Amino acid sequence: MTTEFGLIARYFSRPSIRAVLGVGDDCALLPASTNCTAVSTDTLVEGIHFFADVDPTTLGQKALAVSLSDLAAMGATPRFFTLALTLPQANDDWLAKFSSGLFLLADQFQIELVGGDTTRGPLSITITVLGEVNGAEALRRDGAKIGDDIWVSGQLGGAALALRQLLAPETRAVIDADLRARLEAPQPRIALGERLTAIAHAAIDISDGLLADLTHIATKSALGATIAWSKLPVHPALQREDLVVQRACALTGGDDYELCFTASMLHRDNIEQLEDELGLALTRIGTMMAGPPRVRVFSHDGNELKFSATGFDHFSRQL
Ligand code: ADP
Ligand code: MG
Repeated sequence: MTTEFGLIARYFSRPSIRAVLGVGDDCALLPASTNCTAVSTDTLVEGIHFFADVDPTTLGQKALAVSLSDLAAMGATPRFFTLALTLPQANDDWLAKFSSGLFLLADQFQIELVGGDTTRGPLSITITVLGEVNGAEALRRDGAKIGDDIWVSGQLGGAALALRQLLAPETRAVIDADLRARLEAPQPRIALGERLTAIAHAAIDISDGLLADLTHIATKSALGATIAWSKLPVHPALQREDLVVQRACALTGGDDYELCFTASMLHRDNIEQLEDELGLALTRIGTMMAGPPRVRVFSHDGNELKFSATGFDHFSRQL
């Protein structure tokens, strides 16, 4: 039978790289830096953030990816993370797969697991990531300026469409693998965030839906935001759906983990160059302007589109 400490030693202890002391003592010891430390925590709960039968390897990947995405949105370089794991039982097959997915991403982004906690209970995963960023250059939500262009990376709405298809019995079995990966294995945009520190005024990662997340930039920056529906990089699989579904997924669907950022018009050439360097689509979708702190979306004929819900909010409806 696997004990708590056996489980930690077997699945979650690896030699330290940058840490002075990693997993196994009362605290980890991390070297201090002259830069700022960016810190962010995220919890994934079974039944709310993932299906009970999700592949544990992709779950391990996603649990770390969503936290790395917060570091990306700040322009921070990943350094260390902790893992608080609540498990219904110690299942070796599950733990081997979960930890392999977790470390796959950890190695890809050179982030080191330095501690955590392991308890018994309904499955839930909490990860705290630590990153390094120059405090004056960090990509905050409150830095947008009047006249800034609004940009997004990658394509929008793929994760929300995948979720719809997984929830519908007739599409669940035939969902496209690439589309499913948009939901289950999002790619944190770390390299983009690091490069944007020298370019962007404000940034956020799109976890709750473009409208909801861009509204945070608008509110914190005390500006309005206007975007053009026709310019949105809608995921190709989503372009085959009804316009209503397209708009719901691309504007109010969550889980894409792309970056939305604002930058001066003077940086358009730099951003286009960055797009080529990173091999990642960067699309200009709108403008920040003086006015009430909200996001307005216009169709190509100039009409304003109206939405009832701007994105996912855990407490806005009965669960
Ligand atoms: P304490 O009782 O002092 O809090 P624990 O018994 O909870 O210590 O944990 C022992 C060591 O294992 C600590 O260094 C802790 O950070 C680490 N640890 C516990 N759970 C995990 C986990 N899921 N992943 C990584 N490290 C863990
Ligand atoms: Mg403990």
